[in-house]
Amino acid sequence: MRIHLQAGDVIFSEGDAPTTAFLIESGEVEISATQHGQRIVLSHLSPGDLLGEMAVIDDAPRTATAIALGDCMLFPIDRAQITERLSKTDPIIRSLMEGQLKRYRGALAAMQGKRDKLSEISETPSEQLGIGKIRLETHLREALVNDGLDVRYQPLLHVASGRIAGYEALVRWTHPERGAISPMEFVALAEETSLIVPIGEYVFDTACKAVTRFIDSGADPKPFIAVNVSARQLGHPGLIERIVARVDAAGLPRGSLKIEITESQALNYGLVADVIELCHRHGIKVALDDFGTGYSHLSHMHRLAFDTIKVDQAFSRAMVDDPRSLAIVEAIVHMGKALGTEVVVEGIETEEMLAILRRLGCDYAQGYLIGKPQTLDELLGAA
Ligand code: C2E
Ligand code: CA
Ligand code: CA
Ligand code: CA
Repeated sequence: MRIHLQAGDVIFSEGDAPTTAFLIESGEVEISATQHGQRIVLSHLSPGDLLGEMAVIDDAPRTATAIALGDCMLFPIDRAQITERLSKTDPIIRSLMEGQLKRYRGALAAMQGKRDKLSEISETPSEQLGIGKIRLETHLREALVNDGLDVRYQPLLHVASGRIAGYEALVRWTHPERGAISPMEFVALAEETSLIVPIGEYVFDTACKAVTRFIDSGADPKPFIAVNVSARQLGHPGLIERIVARVDAAGLPRGSLKIEITESQALNYGLVADVIELCHRHGIKVALDDFGTGYSHLSHMHRLAFDTIKVDQAFSRAMVDDPRSLAIVEAIVHMGKALGTEVVVEGIETEEMLAILRRLGCDYAQGYLIGKPQTLDELLGAA
């Protein structure tokens, strides 16, 4: 659908509600605004230029008038086409753009003598969200360099022997004003940028020191420590080599560290296959985390040689009352045995749940019944 116009035709006027933006196919368009009752020309647009997109983006009344200078042909761009894309953009980028638009409008209004204070303009919800995220991300960067992060260790029980076989390292952040922030929130934030890479390295370094201290304390059997690695970190070149170098530098047996990879839409399974192969070549084990949630795909299981499958707590919580959930956990345990893959069930909070795992012959249990995530000092003190 195209629009043909002749010289002098008005495309939109100041104050109009924005419904469409336009792409100029041919002809020239003049953009003008009134200043102290006088019309001033702001710009001339030519074929290939976009016009009217600003009001469409922030849904504010038109702040300028567009008039065809001669014969013109325009393609309308529906508001939904722009807003849909915008809604899929990173919220931080969106809020930066909204902020810029508002400043531009404020400057324009001031120039036109309509308003003299930019401060009259309030922040939109998405802008507040975006700025809130930038602020939090800045605080997180600061915490990373100023020792504001911490690692807790949650025990994994070897079900058959009743002994603690290892620990999962879980990062913690205590925000100076907000207090403890869930890793669900800040790890997701760090994953949006590459901030997760140095955070992951911090957790790794700290975990290596923890294994050393566990071994020095005479823990028997020598525990492993499992570290979470997100999809974003996997794509970072040299990740596994750096992990191996750290383990070696700390004089630790390679088998004392495991990595846990969470299934997510962002996982590139070709890359995961390469990572697993590289880890195995170096003697490092790899677990598939949160199995059964989100994007689990049995085809990944037959192609990828994971050493361990971790069953998400959604299943263990349900297996006590729901026979279908129990059947699923049982099937995963059997699948693990058939594939030679160890199975950990997470979220074990009661004796009843642990008894089920014992009966199913599941390898490992993790959860509040076994132990909550604790500091290294707490664990060593208790040992
Ligand atoms: P996850 O890897 O699935 O870790 C298990 C989560 O379940 C932890 O939450 C743990 O505290 C919690 N949990 C353990 N046992 C129980 C239980 O019996 N009941 C209940 N209700 N919860 C239990 P947390 O520490 O809040 O971590 C959340 C997620 O954040 C982790 O899920 C992991 O995906 C991510 N994460 C944590 N630390 C790191 C890290 O160092 N790097 C990366 N990339 N991600 C991390
Ligand atoms: Ca995990
Ligand atoms: Ca998990
Ligand atoms: Ca999880």
